[in-house]
Amino acid sequence: MHDRVIETVRHAVITHHKRSGAVLFSDTTLRDGEQMPGATLEPDDKLQIARALEAAGVHSLDAGFPASSEQDIQAIRKMIGVIRKPVLTALCRTVRSDVDAADRALDGNPDHKRGVSLFCGTSPLHRRYKLEKSQAEVLNIITDSIGYASEKFRIVAFSPEDASRTEIDFLCRCYVEAIDCGATTIGFPDTVGVLTPEKAVDFIRAIQDRVHNLDRALLAVHFHNDLGLAVANTLACIREGANVVQCTVNGIGERAGNASLEEVAMALALHPDQYQRSFRIDTTQLAPLCRLVAELTGVMIPRMKPVGGANVFATEAGIHQDGLLKHPDTYLPFHPETVGADGIRLVLGRHSGRRAVAHRLEAMGLDSSDKAVLAVVERIKQQPKGTVVDDELLRRLATAGTS
Ligand code: MN
Repeated sequence: MHDRVIETVRHAVITHHKRSGAVLFSDTTLRDGEQMPGATLEPDDKLQIARALEAAGVHSLDAGFPASSEQDIQAIRKMIGVIRKPVLTALCRTVRSDVDAADRALDGNPDHKRGVSLFCGTSPLHRRYKLEKSQAEVLNIITDSIGYASEKFRIVAFSPEDASRTEIDFLCRCYVEAIDCGATTIGFPDTVGVLTPEKAVDFIRAIQDRVHNLDRALLAVHFHNDLGLAVANTLACIREGANVVQCTVNGIGERAGNASLEEVAMALALHPDQYQRSFRIDTTQLAPLCRLVAELTGVMIPRMKPVGGANVFATEAGIHQDGLLKHPDTYLPFHPETVGADGIRLVLGRHSGRRAVAHRLEAMGLDSSDKAVLAVVERIKQQPKGTVVDDELLRRLATAGTS
């Protein structure tokens, strides 16, 4: 009887998420992101990022891999009772002892806010070289461990590692059996980042067609960025009906990284007509979140990185500066405040025009008459290549003729 009640609750939650059409953000910055060479995070750093992710509205947090690291256990223990809104999940191999380690690490978190995420290689490459197991053996491992996990957890995700290079028939069999054994989410990881949006969509359609019990599980996608397509692939799968998207802040992760949470969220925010899916991310938290992750991981945000990069609200070009001063929409896809960034930065340099120079001189309380502005623009053009004219240099150039 008890089992049937739990089963009914599980089913109701899944049905609710599916009917709502919501895109659920599952963040894996603290796990896949931290796997990036050199991006080690201390347990306190992880807690701080988890708080920021909670404030940003993520649905679930891939909090770590308890069986692999004592530090991950410590980080998860710090989150218990503190991180309340997102579901906390722990990564496990498809072995019972990993599930036990996750159970201990997540002890004390309410049942509906804790889960496990089990993975097992399914592609021919993984079966042959890594696991040395047949398809039948892999299936047995999956069903045994998922069955065991679902006795201890209400939320059980299963990801066939290297799914995008797995035979579609076998892949779908793994999903069907995992769901039959209690998986509440099935993941589709493009582990080595080889897919294009069109091929990703083909996979999602095949899974939806062939996994006959998919009404009992959410479908999650996980893309790597080896071809620079992780975000595009994620969006294509959202369009096709994926329920959960796994992302990392700043796109940090293995090799070329993962799908950037902030980019996926902004694409959804800017194109509600296209996706017609609700999501809970508070976009005004994104730029501060990107900065925090960069600071704590030590992985700098590239200047041109969408959403979080230093250049995305900065320009030196005269025509763009003039346009931005007249109306910010002229040369921006969205305003800085939409993502909680500092503001538009008009960088003064050799490409700048009179408008921006006058604007800055006036803001600094300096002579901004036409004559003074023209003189300063001329002096800026004589500066060495690549010079960025900061306020100090501008003051010197503005007062050069008078002192
Ligand atoms: Mn990954």
